[in-house]
Amino acid sequence: MKIKTKLFLGIGLLFAMLLVLGLTSGLFIQRLSADTKNILADNYNSVEFARKMLQAFNNDSLETEEIKVFEENLARQEKNITETGEQDLTEKLVSDYAVLKKNPGDVNQMRVIRTDVSNIMLLNMQAIQIKEKFAEQTASNAIFWISIAGTVCFIIALTLLFNLPGNIANPIRELTASIKQIADRNYSQRLHFKGTDEFSDLASSFNTMAEKLEEYQQSNIEKLMMEKKRIEALINNMKDPVIGLDQEGKVLFMNEMAFKISGLSAEKVIGRPLQTIAIENDLIRSLAKDIFAEPGAPATPKTPLKIYADGRESYFEEQIIPIRIVPTGESEERAIGTVLVLQNITTYKELDFAKTNFIATISHELKTPISSIKMGLQLLENRQVGPLNEEQQNLVNSIGEDAGRLLKITGELLNMTQVETGSIQLTVSPASVKEIVDYALHANQSAAESRQIKLDVKLPEQDTRVLADKDKTAWVLNNLVSNAIRYSHEHDTVSIEVAQQGDQIQFSVRDTGYGIAPEYQDRIFDRYFRVPGIKREGTGLGLSISKEFIEAQGGRIMLRSEIGVGSVFSFSLKRA
Ligand code: ADP
Repeated sequence: MKIKTKLFLGIGLLFAMLLVLGLTSGLFIQRLSADTKNILADNYNSVEFARKMLQAFNNDSLETEEIKVFEENLARQEKNITETGEQDLTEKLVSDYAVLKKNPGDVNQMRVIRTDVSNIMLLNMQAIQIKEKFAEQTASNAIFWISIAGTVCFIIALTLLFNLPGNIANPIRELTASIKQIADRNYSQRLHFKGTDEFSDLASSFNTMAEKLEEYQQSNIEKLMMEKKRIEALINNMKDPVIGLDQEGKVLFMNEMAFKISGLSAEKVIGRPLQTIAIENDLIRSLAKDIFAEPGAPATPKTPLKIYADGRESYFEEQIIPIRIVPTGESEERAIGTVLVLQNITTYKELDFAKTNFIATISHELKTPISSIKMGLQLLENRQVGPLNEEQQNLVNSIGEDAGRLLKITGELLNMTQVETGSIQLTVSPASVKEIVDYALHANQSAAESRQIKLDVKLPEQDTRVLADKDKTAWVLNNLVSNAIRYSHEHDTVSIEVAQQGDQIQFSVRDTGYGIAPEYQDRIFDRYFRVPGIKREGTGLGLSISKEFIEAQGGRIMLRSEIGVGSVFSFSLKRA
């Protein structure tokens, strides 16, 4: 049944019953009032007329006034005949009164008239008693029917009260819950309302909608599956190993290459946390270390991973790409996982090896002839060989400078190849700080003089010793002093200071030269980096080699610089 019909019937029935109740009550009230009116009009008046007539006949003689009262009431009584037999009694009274009127002093006739009046009074009083019984009957009938109508109304109202709200609210509640399910993408949700009311129409519309959504989702899933397969095929065909993780670090996918180099299989990894796999697999362990490094922890310098795969040594550079998206309907970006790409750099690495070997060979081969040239020049400058004229002396000087420069470059290149191949040979032992500083001073003496730069030295009082590779440390200090001289203005002062700081010895070289702009300070220790626009000759290798030499000895190298003010390069090593 339709809700509208249910409401119509329920409320309509209640209304009808209230109407019945009202009508019944009205009817009975009217009946009771009619009964009362009857008693009053029909009988009470007759009793009253009779009483007044009897009063007028109280005395045995009739006075004019009393006659008038009697006749008036008699006339009224004649018009108020309501009971059976009352007509006869009244007519008898009228005729008896007519006889009395002829003979007013007849006491017997008076007595007869009194009896007549009493009879009329009695008849009416009996009628009152009968009608009272009728009225009582009507009143109890009224109570009976009103109670029945009231009870029926109460039952209907109670039934409506208990059933109607539930009938309307329950399906609405069920519908709300189902809509929520649909909103949560549970498109298999259906409504099952029985009957033929509006809610079952609503349920069937809802079910159609859910069915269509399910169908739409299915078709979308097929499309998505197709796209997924396409992307999987692309990733699988990539030469670089790729590993995808969800936000909890569980493996979502791994391409063929990743399986090949790790020696793992899909069953062992998909859906498992990377950290669990790391326990059994060396490669995954080293990758997991970088992915799950504590945020804010110092980043370890990334060295290429050397992996033996496909019958040869391969080199991979690790790239960790955090994946962040803004979910539909949201405004905040959310991390949904990480993609790890191992870029195969074997070819570059092989080329780099070839280049390093080539540089090492060339530098090594050049060093000997350059040294011979320098020796030859020293011989030429010797007075015993013979005096040189001014022109010859100038030529010898410039050949000497060029040879020195060449020797410096070949030296730097050789050191660089040592650094690149990871074959720095260190001989760490207690070394005199003074000797190291003296070496740097001596090596830079003539360069400083030619630019009229004053070298200022400040050493600890007693001969302090440092735990270091003397040659490499002297080479670093020499390089810093040489830079300070080259990148200063003429007539400037370069200060070399060695100070003890706890168990460390700090070497500082301060200049008042060009300074280095903040944006270049991070890259100043990078290989081949040179501040753009600098006109001085150089290779951009000195500082990077210095850093490698100092760090290889467990020390630290630092820079403080301000453009136009000057720079302070310092390094610290353990005290002996
Ligand atoms: P090179 O001096 O051969 O170019 P380095 O590695 O020693 O190579 O130095 C790298 C670069 O750092 C230099 O090219 C120069 O631009 C800058 N630099 C080094 N030392 C100083 C200094 N004391 N003052 C200003 N710039 C400097």
